[in-house]
Order: sequence, then C-alpha cells, then structure tokens
Amino acid sequence: MSEIIVRYPPSPTGLFHIGTARTVLYNFLFAQKNNGKAIMRMEDTDKTRSEEKYEKNILDGIQKLGMSWDETTGVIHQSERTEIYKKYLQQLLTEKKAYYCFSTPEELNVLREQAQKEKRAFRYPETWRDADEKLVQEKLDAGEKSVIRFKIPRDRGDIIFTDAVRGEVSIHQKELDDFVIAKNLETPLYNFCVVIDDNDMNVSHVIRGEDHISNTPKQILVFEAFKFSLPTFAHLPLILNQDKSKLSKRKNKVSVDDYLADGFLPEALVNFLALLGWNTSDEQEIFTMEELIEKFSLDRVHKGGAIFDIEKLKWINGEWIKKMGIEEFSHRYLQHIQQFGTDEEQKRKGEYEKNNEFFLSALALIKDRTKKLSEIHEYLSLFYTTDETLEYSSDIYFHKKMKTSKETAPESLTFALDIIKNYPSELEWNAENLKILFIEKIKEAGYKNGFILFPLRVALSGEEFSPGTLELLEIFGKERSMKRIERGVELVK
Ligand code: GLU
Repeated sequence: MSEIIVRYPPSPTGLFHIGTARTVLYNFLFAQKNNGKAIMRMEDTDKTRSEEKYEKNILDGIQKLGMSWDETTGVIHQSERTEIYKKYLQQLLTEKKAYYCFSTPEELNVLREQAQKEKRAFRYPETWRDADEKLVQEKLDAGEKSVIRFKIPRDRGDIIFTDAVRGEVSIHQKELDDFVIAKNLETPLYNFCVVIDDNDMNVSHVIRGEDHISNTPKQILVFEAFKFSLPTFAHLPLILNQDKSKLSKRKNKVSVDDYLADGFLPEALVNFLALLGWNTSDEQEIFTMEELIEKFSLDRVHKGGAIFDIEKLKWINGEWIKKMGIEEFSHRYLQHIQQFGTDEEQKRKGEYEKNNEFFLSALALIKDRTKKLSEIHEYLSLFYTTDETLEYSSDIYFHKKMKTSKETAPESLTFALDIIKNYPSELEWNAENLKILFIEKIKEAGYKNGFILFPLRVALSGEEFSPGTLELLEIFGKERSMKRIERGVELVK
C-alpha cells in the first residue's frame, strides 16, 4: 500500500475553530494510526482576510491539543505558491480546459435576479465558453477585467465517487456550471489550488467537513483535467447546535481558546471532539490520545450530523479531572490561573503557594465534583474566608430529614464545640479519629448523627452543599474549627 498522506488546510481568517480542530484531529488520528504523515498547509490565498495572528493561533492550538504535523515539510503557505498555480492555470488555458470570462458582475446579477424571480437555480450562461480567440486576446490586451472559468466537459457523464464515510456519492454533471477557478493568473481560488496542492503533496486522503462535499465534484473534474490520480475523499458530519442548526457563534463558543480559558483540559477537548461524529463499537467514552490512535477508523465515522453537547463535554472533563493525581490537578489549576485567571483568582494564588499543603488538602476535597477548572475558585472560597467573619444565611441550618433548623442549631453546635475543646491531646487530629470520637459521643448523648453533624458542616463551610463534616474538621484543625463553630453560634442567635 502506498504511503498515507493527509493534510490540514485551515484558512487563517479566524481563531482556531472547534470544527477545524475536529477535522485536524480526525486527520491526525488517521495518519498516526496508519504510520502516515500529515501536511500542514495554510490556505492563505484570501489576502484581505488572512492574518498572521490567526495562523499563529491555529498552529499553537493544534500543538496545545497534543497534535503535530510533518516536520520535514513544515508549514506550507499557498500564498508562496502563486507561480506554481500560474503554470497550471496556463496549461488549462492552453489546452482549452479553462477560459477567460468577461461577463461583469452587474451583468451576472441581472441574470441571477431573473432566475430568482422564475424560481430556478442560477447558472452561468457560458457566454464566453467558446468565444472567439482574437476577441479574447483584444480584451486582455486592453486590460479589461475578467475571471478564469473551468470548462466543464459536457460529454463527461455524472460524477460518481466513493466517499470513505458516506459511500457512493453521485452528482449530475448538468448541475455544475463553469465555475471560476481564478480571478486572474496571479489569484487562483480554492477549488483550483486545493487540487494542485493535493496532487503535488501526494495526498492520499482528503478528510474534511461535509460542508465541502459540493466542492468535491468540481475538484474531481480539475484532477481529471490534469490527469492526476484521485485521492480518497472522506466527508465528516456537520457539527450541530442542540437545536440541530449548524454550529454557530451565537449559540456556542466556537474557538478552542474559549474552551481552554473556560477550564476545559486539552485531553478532555480531544476526547470530546473525537466522539463528535465517531465512536468505537463498545461503550467506552473516555480515551487518551494513544487509545484514539489505536482505535480510530474512518468506517466508524457517522454519516448524520454530530450534536455539540456541552453537558457531555463537562462530563468528560470531570472524568479526566477525577482520573488525575492531586499534584497534577494543582499544577494544572495554577497554570490555568496564570494563563486565564480573573483578578480574584490571581489575588488568591499567593495564598495557595504560601501554604501548599493546605491548598492540596482543600483541592482534594473538591476535586471529584469539579467539572471545569474555572469552578475551582468558588469551590475553594470556603477554605479561604476569614473564620470570624464567615457570612451566610442561618436559614441553611434547616434540614427536614436531619430535623435541624436555626432554632436547633445552637444545641448541636455547642455539643460539637465541647467535643472538640476536649479532644484528647494524644490523639492525632484526623477525619478517621474524629469520626470514631463523634459517633461515640453522639450515641452516648442519645442524638441522631445528622442532628449534630449537619449543622456542624454548615458552620464549618458556611455552605449548604460542601465536602463532608469530618474532612472539613481535619483540614481546618482544632483552632479554626472552633472559631467557625463559634461564629455559627453567633449567626443563629
Ligand atoms: N481551507 C479550506 C477550509 O478551511 C480547506 C478545505 C479542504 O479541506 O479542502 O475549509
């Protein structure tokens, strides 16, 4: 089998888009799986819209997500290949497989409007298709404005190709009009450049979004005009909003950076994007990049649109966080603050670093409920507020099942305070020992566990939902725990 070669051909006209990231990922997985290579090609022929900052953002983004491209070819720019395209354009003109068209946009607009009125599709009327050569030359010499159109071979039957995802795709040749392949010899357009490049770079597989499927027959005709051999095409399903409309900026964030800034891990994003239009035959949902490479295949790519489900992304991110060791979790979070932190987060970072042990213990208590790194600041707040001035509504002492309220809280809190004050000095202060002691004392006094432990948790955390009581006692230590309980008593007075 000949070498597998794919390409990443983004247009640097915007930030690294989540849809582009999915396409790059599928190309990367396919190339890696088949020991092939991926060519990085910047489709920057649109000079007015292409910008260097976008190119940088795309290249950085690909690497941030743990992907790469072939180093030997480096980053190829279409803008530097004008001479190559020009040579091929001239060849098509000479062979009369393309022609100059002098129809003005105004003329064509009139025809377009007319077609619209008559409710039929507009097609270029082929005015200049077989024009007199001398007339064409005169107009060119006079510097009249023109474009170069591809001459659809009208004796060619319908265009049929086998898509690696969609199976047989067939397009009526009659539906295609003589499309524009260049504005002039120095300004070739996408459907032309892509064919020259895919051939020059020996691309074996063109894996791209389904939005390009209507371009494929045109490109096939250009391949044929040059007698180039065809690559295999694979069109990936569209990415849709929850309401099944095409993924739009209005309904979702669309740049990869937005998701990273929001506290999604690169691994989780990759995992999520891989499942946006592909799955394995089993139930597995959490994959490392290595596993994806091992398991990826084009024949399991879905045909139907892939719904962008942000809840699923959160779940996957949460799973990745759960899997992570505490040191790594801390490292990622500090890094996150450095890159994307709000003023509040930046301010607290110093405290995290000053007492790293406390920070790690606090993180350990909130890790499993964290879905995004951006939630951590709020989850950790309870550990970093001053004990004496902790503020919360005393209504949260109410718990129907535990039979507690702000009225019963003083009794529970004083009871707990007493146990803590008299905590045996020879006993190590940890959740396990605290548990044994509390259960024993509560039983002796004839209380129910919840009647004491629930209000105690509220007093320690100032929150309705928080980590467990005994873990909170352990992490705060005797002094701070006492201060918080005293504050609790004060608040329910
Ligand atoms: N530059 C095109 C895009 O960003 C590439 C399409 C293709 O893969 O042929 O959509």
